[in-house]
Amino acid sequence: MSEDSQIPSQLAAKLYIVATPIGNISDITYRAIETLQQVDLIAAEDTRHSGKLLSHYQIKKPMFPLHDHNERQRGSVLIEKIKAGQSVALISDAGTPLISDPGYHLVNECREAGVDVVPIPGACAAVTALSAAGLPSDRFSFEGFLPAKEKGKQDKLKGLLEETRTMIFYESPRRIADTVQQIITILGGDRKLVIARELTKTFESFYSFTADEMLQWLNQDTNHCRGEFVLMVAGAQKDSDTIPQDALNTLALLKEQLPLKKAAALTAQIHDQKKNDLYKWGLENL
Ligand code: SAM
Repeated sequence: MSEDSQIPSQLAAKLYIVATPIGNISDITYRAIETLQQVDLIAAEDTRHSGKLLSHYQIKKPMFPLHDHNERQRGSVLIEKIKAGQSVALISDAGTPLISDPGYHLVNECREAGVDVVPIPGACAAVTALSAAGLPSDRFSFEGFLPAKEKGKQDKLKGLLEETRTMIFYESPRRIADTVQQIITILGGDRKLVIARELTKTFESFYSFTADEMLQWLNQDTNHCRGEFVLMVAGAQKDSDTIPQDALNTLALLKEQLPLKKAAALTAQIHDQKKNDLYKWGLENL
C-alpha cells in the first residue's frame, strides 16, 4: 500500500470536504467512507437527509447542521472545534459540497484562520453530465442555477451570448421549460442543447436536441419535466468555425512560404472568405 492510500486511524484536526452520491448510493469512494467513519463530527446541510446515507454505511457520528442560512454564524463554531483538536467532515445533500451547495464561507474562513481543508473528491452532477453529453469538454463554463426571476435570467443569458465554451446549468423541473424558452429567445433556437436527467438513477437519460426541438419535447408530456436536470448548452460558434476545410488547407500551405498576414489575404481571395477570420484561425492553429 502506498503512503498516500493510508488513512491514519485518528484523523488530523482538519476540515474534510467529502463528496457524496448524486443518486446511486454506491457512488461514494472508499476514502469518503473511511473519512466519515473516522471524523469526530459531520456537518451536513440536512441532517435527516444525510442520516439515511450514513445509516446505509453504518456510520454513526454526531452531526452538526450547516446550511445556507446559518453557515456564516455556525461556521465559526466549527472552526473553534477544529482548532480545539476535532476533525470535521462537511457533506451536502448530494454530490460535492460548495458546488451550488453550502460550504464556501466555511472553507474561506478556514483558509483565513490557517485551518487545513482537505478535499475528498467524488460525484458532481455537472462533471458527470458533461462526461457523457457529447458536447466539447476541453473547456467549459459552470453556471450553476440561473436566477429565478425573469429579468435576472434574461440578463445572465445575454451575458453569455458570446460564450464559446460549453455551458453547464443546474435547473429545477419547474423552470426547465421556461429556461429553454429564454435560451431560444436570447441564444437562438438552433443552439444545440443536451439535458442529462436523473443521473446515476434508474431513469437516467440524455436528450440532445436544438433548443427549438428541446422545448417541443419538454412540452410534449408533463413527465418530460420531472426529475433532476443538468442542462448543457453548446458554446457560440466562432466565425472561424465555419471556414471550409479546403480554405484551411490552402492557408496552411501558403503559411509555409509566406507571413501569416499575406497567406490569409491570398487565401481569402482564392476561397472568397473573410481575411480576418483566416488570420485569427492561423494565429490559433498554425
Ligand atoms: N453539489 C451538487 C453537485 O455536486 O452536483 C449539486 C447540488 S444542487 C443543490 C442540485 C442540482 O444539481 C439539481 O437541481 C440538479 O440540477 C443537479 N443534480 C443533482 N443531482 C442530479 C442528478 N442525479 N441528475 C441530474 N441533475 C442532478
